[in-house]
Amino acid sequence: MWKWLILAAAAYILYRLFANDLLKKKKDGEKTEAEETARKVQAGEMVKDPECGVYVSADAEVTVRDGEKVYRFCSYDCRDKFLQRLKEGGGRLSS
Ligand SMILES: [Zn+2]
Repeated sequence: MWKWLILAAAAYILYRLFANDLLKKKKDGEKTEAEETARKVQAGEMVKDPECGVYVSADAEVTVRDGEKVYRFCSYDCRDKFLQRLKEGGGRLSS
């Protein structure tokens, strides 16, 4: 008798775990942060900071314009390093 009760309880717990998991997946598409970032990059909502490689919002305030191209940075630190690197490397950046 007890055996069956325990088995039933275990089955019920497993079922609940599984059901919760499915519900969660349905709710937010079970997207990882990386997938979400990749989607935003594809949609043009996020761009890569060319200095540190971090993805920043496409309307980030820290930018450097190089002709047609606009670089966006996560911080002024990164921007300064980027500009410094261009200068040292003889970059074609026109300020
Ligand atoms: Zn950065």
